[in-house]
This record gives sequence, C-alpha cells and structure tokens, in this order.
Amino acid sequence: MGIRDRFLEIQEELKSLRPENPPVLIAVSKFQPLEKIKEAVNAGVIHFGENRIQEGLEKFAEWIANENSNLVLHHIGPVQSGTFRKLFLGYSHTHGVGGEGSVFELLSRAEKEQKQIGYFLQANLTREDTKHGFEKKELISLLEKKEMLSNTFCKLEGLMVMGPSDGDPFKTRETFRELSKIRKEYLPEGKLSMGMSGDYRIAIEEGSDFVRIGSAIFGERN
Ligand SMILES: *Cc1c(COP(=O)(O)O)cnc(C)c1O
Repeated sequence: MGIRDRFLEIQEELKSLRPENPPVLIAVSKFQPLEKIKEAVNAGVIHFGENRIQEGLEKFAEWIANENSNLVLHHIGPVQSGTFRKLFLGYSHTHGVGGEGSVFELLSRAEKEQKQIGYFLQANLTREDTKHGFEKKELISLLEKKEMLSNTFCKLEGLMVMGPSDGDPFKTRETFRELSKIRKEYLPEGKLSMGMSGDYRIAIEEGSDFVRIGSAIFGERN
C-alpha cells in the first residue's frame, strides 16, 4: 500500500469510529521528503504536522506562498524560546506549548505580528522526564485563569498529550481519559489533540478531536 491508500483507509476508519463527529486527521510529515508530501497532497490530505519549524516552512513553501491553497500546517512538539516568530510564517496551529513562559511569549508574539494562531497546551500526564509539558496540577492552575490565555490573535484551542512511551494500552487509555476529564472540567469548549499511529483508536474512544498520525501514513521515518 502506498501513501494514498493508507491515508484513505485511515480517513475511512476515523469516520467509522465516530461517524457523528470524526476527528481531524493531521498527517505528520516530519522528516519525510517533499515527494512523499506531494503524494499525500494529491491523495487529498489537508492537515499536515511538522515538528521542526524551519524545516516545515521550507518543505511547504510552495503551498504557503499560494493564496488559494487550502492546506493547513500544524506545528507539533515544543517551540524553543525565541523562535515563536517563525510560527507565524506558515503555521496556523501549534500543539505542544508546555510552559507558562511559552504561553505568554506566544500571546505577545501574536499581537506583535497581528496574525492568528491557535494553540494547544501540552500535558505531561505520564510523568516521564523525556516528555515535555505541564504536570496536571500546573495545567489546572493555568486553566483556572483561562481568560488570560487567549487574545484577539492567539486562541487557546485545547489540550494535547502523548501516551506513555512503552505503548501499554491500559496506561494509554488512562492518560487519554485523564486529559479528557481535565478538558470537561476546566475547558469544556476546548478540543483534544491526542492519538498517534500506535494509539489513535484508543484516543478516539476517549474523545480525541485531532489525531496526529505519521508513520501509519508515510511509513517509517528516515
Ligand atoms: C512524531 C509525532 C507524531 C506522529 O507519530 P507517529 O507515531 O509516526 O504517528 C505525533 N505527535 C507528535 C508530537 C510527534 O512528535
């Protein structure tokens, strides 16, 4: 199976898993070459995810420059302080804002640029040191002042999490369920960004609105 078939198959599966409100499929093209991205565009992929800001801007330059393009570019993963400015050159969403300093840097940068962006706060609910994001308590205390978390240009769209690195299905479900509860209680209007190639089915059962799928569409990364 090629990229087209894998994308179409997953797209159909997402619809069948939750016909009334299927999640948005973000095709994660990080580390994939331009030819593969073109194949995905031709198959009808609209939402793409890249983790390195600059690399994504270069690969997607032709679509970013084209006003008629309907592609939507999502940044996934952490943003280094001082590089927020670059997000506004092509990305409309960023999933993975993981510290209070980053939130306020993003908000003030959006005002300076006068450009729209939506963002997701990343939670670290698996307590793995390798994972970036807010611990549950920090996340909740931030959400308690959520009127400070959006401005005219920059909107808090929702919450993001990654499942445990060992892929244990029980822990994965617990993690997604926990984020879903936090959303329900503290950000009911917000969306959930959770689920990758190995765990998107569980994420959808737990209410995910955006799944970020790379290798199941593009094959293994180089
Ligand atoms: C790489 C990555 C993905 C996609 O991972 P796959 O396992 O290839 O589907 C999703 N989200 C984030 C934050 C990533 O870094």
